[in-house]
Parts: sequence; structure tokens; C-alpha cells
Amino acid sequence: MIRVNAEACCLCGLCVGVCPPDALDMTEQELKVLPNCTDCGWCVPYCPVGALSGGRARKRTVLARP
Ligand code: SF4
Ligand code: SF4
Repeated sequence: MIRVNAEACCLCGLCVGVCPPDALDMTEQELKVLPNCTDCGWCVPYCPVGALSGGRARKRTVLARP
């Protein structure tokens, strides 16, 4: 499962919108990874502050940000 560095996360919500199975749940206080996370790693490069780590696709290159 993907890891969230809660101290670095600024709760911008970018990762929530790109997760294919909708496995990220953000509240005003925290970002939670739900059990249906497939560990695909897709969300990792979208985080502007590097708060996400892990996942199977760590070397993926993002060509265009949303
Ligand atoms: S690793 Fe994949 S499934 Fe898990 S939170 Fe990130 S985008 Fe969603
Ligand atoms: S993209 Fe990064 S900073 Fe934004 S909510 Fe997700 S983990 Fe937090």
C-alpha cells in the first residue's frame, strides 16, 4: 500500500483526483489510503511536495500534469 508522509502533505487533493480505483480519501485533517489501493504507484509523481511513496511503478514518468 502506498505511504503518505502526513507532515509533508498539504492536503491539496491532486492525488485524490488521479487515483484509478478512488482509493484516496481526504478530509480537512488528513489524507487516508483506503484498503482498495492496488499499490499501482500512479499517484506518486503527481504529488507536488513528494509526500507519497511506495507503489509498484516508482519509475513512471509523468509527461503532462493535469
Ligand atoms: S497507489 Fe494507485 S491505487 Fe493506491 S492510492 Fe495511489 S493511485 Fe490509488
Ligand atoms: S498530492 Fe500530495 S500534498 Fe496533495 S493531497 Fe496528495 S499527498 Fe497530499
